[in-house]
Amino acid sequence: MSNSSLICHTNISPNQNSPRNATIDTISIHCMAGNLTVESCGALFAQSSRGASSNYGVGSDGRIALYVDEGDRSWCTSDSSNDNRAVTIEVASDSTDPYAVTDAAYNALIELCADICQRNGISSLKWEGDSSLIGNVDRQNMTVHRWFAAKACPGDYLYNLHGDIAAKVNEKLKGDEDMTQEAFNEKFADMRKELQDNDCGTWSEEARQWAIDNGMIYGSGETEDGQPNYMWADLLTREQMVVLFYRMAQKVGLV
Ligand SMILES: [Zn+2]
Repeated sequence: MSNSSLICHTNISPNQNSPRNATIDTISIHCMAGNLTVESCGALFAQSSRGASSNYGVGSDGRIALYVDEGDRSWCTSDSSNDNRAVTIEVASDSTDPYAVTDAAYNALIELCADICQRNGISSLKWEGDSSLIGNVDRQNMTVHRWFAAKACPGDYLYNLHGDIAAKVNEKLKGDEDMTQEAFNEKFADMRKELQDNDCGTWSEEARQWAIDNGMIYGSGETEDGQPNYMWADLLTREQMVVLFYRMAQKVGLV
């Protein structure tokens, strides 16, 4: 169980249960109902008397803090079952309805959600805005505090953006599945390795034998059974091509 590497401040709250008793499969986004820094929010959650916490906090400046390890259950959503399976995030907001958040906080929230999904094997965020789907994570894996307590949390601003948050996070998760150059290079090298043996068709047998007998091709190394490895199906570089031309030219007396 890991925590996000996006955090820049840690203040572990005593208001938690360790470890959580369920696998993480849900994200619950809250608003602080106040423009607290991640330090001041952490200082509140550090007080046992507050009886509250969240796994993460996001400030209006986009900075992210850790208050409860992901492996532990925060006291955040007024529901034990939800907090045992959800990663909870408090986002700094206005102190009045609709509890708007800054663009910096919103963007950081999306980065954090994508990171949580990646590390916890959540393939996508799903949101239908339907409290009857609580726990039905195949259809909806985002929950909100207002479903569990008589609260405005996460505020209409963030509540109405839940579909947008899911879409933006899913775009990031999908983007990460795209092939990187490095991964492609590795796969390309793997593919070439598969071609570097003596597998070939009978139609080329006469030509292959002639090329070997006449010193046109030598191959490289040996196959597992100790035969010279001619790598018949592998690629031919321009460098190798001119060497073949040159050997042929030597053979017919041109050089
Ligand atoms: Zn809340």
